[in-house]
Amino acid sequence: MKIDIIGDIHGCLPEFKALTQECGYEWKDGLPVHPDNRLLGFVGDLTDRGPSSLKVADIVWRLVMEQKRAFYTPGNHCNKLYRYFMGNKVQETHGLETTVAEYKSLPKKEQQTIRNKFIDLYEKSPLHVVLDENRLVIAHAGIKEEFIGKTNSKMKTFVLYGDITGEKHPDGSPVRRDWAKKYRGKAIIVYGHTPVKEPRIINNTYNIDTGAVFGGKLTALRYPEMEIVSVASTMPYIGEKFKDFT
Ligand code: MN
Repeated sequence: MKIDIIGDIHGCLPEFKALTQECGYEWKDGLPVHPDNRLLGFVGDLTDRGPSSLKVADIVWRLVMEQKRAFYTPGNHCNKLYRYFMGNKVQETHGLETTVAEYKSLPKKEQQTIRNKFIDLYEKSPLHVVLDENRLVIAHAGIKEEFIGKTNSKMKTFVLYGDITGEKHPDGSPVRRDWAKKYRGKAIIVYGHTPVKEPRIINNTYNIDTGAVFGGKLTALRYPEMEIVSVASTMPYIGEKFKDFT
């Protein structure tokens, strides 16, 4: 299989368009199409903070659910938006407020349509995607080898939030263990969640969240070529949002 896996988009639609075009896709009827019928993959966090969250969600719904030309697995921001759409009480913070503002600005009928599409996409997508006879795994915050193919709550917490310890840094952000450093599996793990200035490639794991919404880059990993393609972000640069693993 040939698939181009895209990092956390967070509503950055121009960057998503530019990146797919850089990868040889043409946009037809509002969707990216590759002349060699390559597939697309999404590591989750489609929405929040960026300017066009709902448009990105709509495009991914069409690609995954309607056209079956893409794979998607949810991120923590997707999980929170899902809970919001289901009527749960969630804090409209950490970027959800921008998606909710987009949502509230729509006419009622369009609100209903995008809400139903997103719920559909979320409920029908696995918490990690296993492809190419277990050679390739897509998971939002990564995954430990022992959780691949499992469906339990430990796996869910891990793929949505990473290898969290339950402790917090002085700034309130969660302490996360560096699971990728200890990964010894054969499967290639493609993930996002933690913005890095350059894709972090270690032990068969690829963090391709290069912080598009924080003014970094939007990045794709092309499989099986294992080629990295990035486009610059149009968003203002916020350096402190990027994690430095060195
Ligand atoms: Mn993210």
